[in-house]
Amino acid sequence: MPVAPPRRTLLLNASLEPLCVVSVHRAVVLVLTGKAMVLETDGRLLHSERTAVPVPLVMCLVRYVHVPHRRTVPPTRRTVLQRDEHRCAYCGGGADTVDHVQPRSRGGRHEWSNVVAACARCNHRKADRLLGELGWELAFIPRAPRGVAALFAATVRTDPSWSAYLVA
Ligand SMILES: [Zn+2]
Repeated sequence: MPVAPPRRTLLLNASLEPLCVVSVHRAVVLVLTGKAMVLETDGRLLHSERTAVPVPLVMCLVRYVHVPHRRTVPPTRRTVLQRDEHRCAYCGGGADTVDHVQPRSRGGRHEWSNVVAACARCNHRKADRLLGELGWELAFIPRAPRGVAALFAATVRTDPSWSAYLVA
């Protein structure tokens, strides 16, 4: 039977808040040392000399760890597209570029409240004009992602098995 490539494991705090992503190897060590419990597995087992451990996709720490205040993630192409779910803020179509609502050439800043996902067509048409000049409106108010789960989802590539745990 072909062995699937190793996946990564979502590690949650004991409060079930997402903490970080660890390698499957590290995840298994945490389980074997009693520091974490497996919540989701893909059904495969990892065999060691004495025991077999289900391959963890999602796990949580047994004891709560206090996490100091998190830095906010900067708006990058990837994090903005993730926040806006790859939807163009102007036409609602699929987006793969990022646009400054108030163009940088007109004093717009590179911050969450001024960047949106945009399709190449809208981005090109808008160029360095303001929305008022075009008669365009934003489909939503752009904001910095809020909450641990939102920040987390915006910064790492997630696995489908994690989605229930990344709800803000
Ligand atoms: Zn568009």
